[in-house]
Amino acid sequence: MPELPEVETVCRGMAPLIMGSRIVSVVQRKSSLRIPFPQGFSRSLAGRMVTEIERRAKYILLTLDNGMVLLVHLGMSGTLVVSGYKDIQPGKHDHVIIHFKDGTILTYTDPRRFGLMTLVPKASIEQHRLLRKLGLEPLGRDFTGPVLESALSGRKMAIKVALLDQTIVAGLGNIYACEALYRAGISPRRLANSVKGLRAHRLAIAIRNVLNDAIHAGGSTLRDYVQSTGSIGYFQHEFSVYGCEHKPCPNCVCSTGVKRIVQGGRSTFFCSRHQR
Ligand SMILES: [Zn+2]
Repeated sequence: MPELPEVETVCRGMAPLIMGSRIVSVVQRKSSLRIPFPQGFSRSLAGRMVTEIERRAKYILLTLDNGMVLLVHLGMSGTLVVSGYKDIQPGKHDHVIIHFKDGTILTYTDPRRFGLMTLVPKASIEQHRLLRKLGLEPLGRDFTGPVLESALSGRKMAIKVALLDQTIVAGLGNIYACEALYRAGISPRRLANSVKGLRAHRLAIAIRNVLNDAIHAGGSTLRDYVQSTGSIGYFQHEFSVYGCEHKPCPNCVCSTGVKRIVQGGRSTFFCSRHQR
């Protein structure tokens, strides 16, 4: 599943390839993904220029020159691939194919169809039902210890569960929640409202750092990828605790190694010795 760093990397990878480019035609091969496409979707996009590419949580926002935003979510298995003019044979799961005037093609592929694409007026995008309840943007400039502490205050749930609540912190997936708590030395079982002061500060920095490290790792992978295949995709990271049950904790000599527990139906990986 694409996590926030992958989505950010997709945005950064796409930007130089399609920013300022004009759409000439759009082939829409399904009537819906997770939600139906808006009426006249292909027609609305034709002739428009992409003027801005942004990310909010795991949503990709392509601003168009008519004040509309093409809002994209990659769901569980979505990919956006930029390719050249020759790759025009669509695959079975290529649901939307956007042709640009310069010959560039942007293909949205999604075998499981949990992703979505819709059009939203830019002026009211913050109030859109998909975006309005989103919590703090973990790579936002104002994501600091005190801001995180205040978002967690009064939350009587485990900090790990709180970090996956999209209304508290937006777009932080299971992998990065585990890795950030590990780096910050905070137990995933600690009550969210007890993460205060220096702890909240450490956690805010850890969240930002694990995401940025993944983005940088992806950035180098991405360059190779674009050069060799003309496409952009996901990448594998190395994790300290995620998926590392029974392996030694990289930071200490624990007799038990990395543990796995289930919280809110999701696996949590952590070190019970140095995460408090
Ligand atoms: Zn440890």
